[in-house]
Amino acid sequence: MADYDAPLQDMRFVVHELAALDELQKLPVFAEATDDLVDQIFEEAARFAHDIWSPLNVVGDEQGIRVEDKTVILPDGFAEAYQQYVEGGWPSLEFSPDYGGMGFPGLVASAVSEMLQSANLAFALCPMLTGGAIQALDAHASDELKQQYLPHMVSGAWTGTMCLTEPQAGSDLSVVKTRAVPDGDHYRINGTKIFITWGDQEISENIIHLVLARLPDAPEGVRGISLFLVPKYLVNPDGSLGDRNDVFAESTEHKLGIHASPTVVMNFGDGDGAIAYLVGEENKGLACMFTMMNHARVGVGIQGLAVAERAYQLARDHAKERVQGVAPGVKGRATIVHHADVRRMLMIMKSQIEAMRAVAYDSAADWDIAHHSDDASERSRANARIALVTPVVKGWMTEVAQEVASLGVQVQGGTGYVEEAGAAQHFRDARILTIYEGTTGIQAMDLVGRKILGDSGKAMQDLLQEMRALDADLEAAGTGLGHLRDLLFASVDELERSAAWLLQNAPDDPQVPGAAAVNLMMQMGTVIGGWQMARAAVAASRKLASCEDHEQGFYDAKIVTARFYMEHVLPRATSYARAACAGSESTMGVPAEML
Ligand SMILES: Cc1cc2nc3c(=O)[nH]c(=O)nc-3n(C[C@H](O)[C@H](O)[C@H](O)COP(=O)(O)OP(=O)(O)OC[C@H]3O[C@@H](n4cnc5c(N)ncnc54)[C@H](O)[C@@H]3O)c2cc1C
Repeated sequence: MADYDAPLQDMRFVVHELAALDELQKLPVFAEATDDLVDQIFEEAARFAHDIWSPLNVVGDEQGIRVEDKTVILPDGFAEAYQQYVEGGWPSLEFSPDYGGMGFPGLVASAVSEMLQSANLAFALCPMLTGGAIQALDAHASDELKQQYLPHMVSGAWTGTMCLTEPQAGSDLSVVKTRAVPDGDHYRINGTKIFITWGDQEISENIIHLVLARLPDAPEGVRGISLFLVPKYLVNPDGSLGDRNDVFAESTEHKLGIHASPTVVMNFGDGDGAIAYLVGEENKGLACMFTMMNHARVGVGIQGLAVAERAYQLARDHAKERVQGVAPGVKGRATIVHHADVRRMLMIMKSQIEAMRAVAYDSAADWDIAHHSDDASERSRANARIALVTPVVKGWMTEVAQEVASLGVQVQGGTGYVEEAGAAQHFRDARILTIYEGTTGIQAMDLVGRKILGDSGKAMQDLLQEMRALDADLEAAGTGLGHLRDLLFASVDELERSAAWLLQNAPDDPQVPGAAAVNLMMQMGTVIGGWQMARAAVAASRKLASCEDHEQGFYDAKIVTARFYMEHVLPRATSYARAACAGSESTMGVPAEML
């Protein structure tokens, strides 16, 4: 089974040429994130991912986890590997120096996160959720809670979880039942949460659960939900750990993939009630939790990219070794990488991975601008863009990951279907990504409802305008990219028509947004992926004018890959557009009893 090697050259290309690290370096807060330092971080992260976390990927899949005496037992080697992760300082990369963080851009942390997720998707969920909990506490908790908890979470000594789901409250959190009762300077929580990722383990000293619960007099629905911090071990005033809180892992789920990630039923308050601290204001908890959920949505999008990259590496390496049949231009029997259809599959994988990476990293750079730019109009532009693109990063990228992971099996034929080859694990692991942290349908409803209809299409118009501004660059790059230009701008026009159709038809038919949502989201992802690929082609053609001989192949490949995307992937946007604008009759016309 092949090892994971971080695609550093591709990552650096996106970080520097498309996501514009140099622009972030102009912000005072990131002045120390120099090219050299960022490069060292990438090299070291790649080594760590390859040497320490990647070898545990199969171990975790085969051993899985179990719950014994209300405690989660992890696969062999995970505790030591987590310790090395903490000692390496990796948990603190992007967080504020106020809490002991290193203060690097989220863009840099996103690339590192991709490496860790590729190396071990199930393991990397733990730091991903901790990062979201840190952001939510930083944004909404009292100063006292921040001082008490954040330094330990930023260092990785304590981890975080997200406790939303209950048996009756999955996509619909308005029906959360877990109860919180005031008790002096804190609250007591009683209730059961299900499917809690990394809900328990013994590799960190403490676990900080962020829990949605309802106060006794809370209004019905989402307006009556509050957010609480519930530590596994209570924290004494001097910062030392005190008694065990009344929160325990009851059992674990046996699931299709990510076997090394504990997915547990958590009981809060089997005894006197779990001691909890309010985060933000009473009854305004869902809005606070959205800070964590948005972080996790982008994080899960990056998981899609990461598992796709890993599946691609395995398929590519197999295709270069497996001999089968004859191919035009090849003497004797050929390795399958020479067959045009195998190339088609590998290029479908490679081109979409590159498109996803560019979309995700560009969005990460916008996050840095939104939080750290001195320019209010830039902050507002970046905030609007992140809001628009986040459901696409989560929804489109995780759907594309299904295709890429499936092709990873297909390229290897029967070998791919056999567990030992490794492709099957990526295929199984990828399957959760379109489900947790809001299903594809829920992401798409967010896009069409809140992000397009909610602002009358303004953020979408701004994006369309920015995409069209690439025209001048494509023209300046010369005739070689003219073909790309025609294909890209036809798809941009089509996206504008879909958004206009939605805005026009949604007011007359309440079923229109739901019927159009996923197709419109997939259309948008496919088109912004195409835009990023065209940007990559422009950057590569500029580089070709002055690069060293040994770099020429890399930049040539960028242009060919962009062309492949435009010719083989971008046409899908038209099918999505047609389905998105078909109206709701055919979707809803068959009575439910006939389904
Ligand atoms: C491995 C794993 C890990 C998880 N980790 C966590 C965690 O750490 N913390 C946590 O709180 N939860 C976690 N979850 C729960 C996860 O977030 C939910 O499973 C997910 O949000 C979907 O909810 P559900 O399973 O109840 O499905 P449902 O809500 O029942 O949805 C079923 C189907 O109906 C569709 N649907 C539902 N409502 C609508 C609607 N209004 N419009 C259109 N379509 C709709 C959905 O898109 C989906 O296709 C995890 C789940 C799993 C399996």
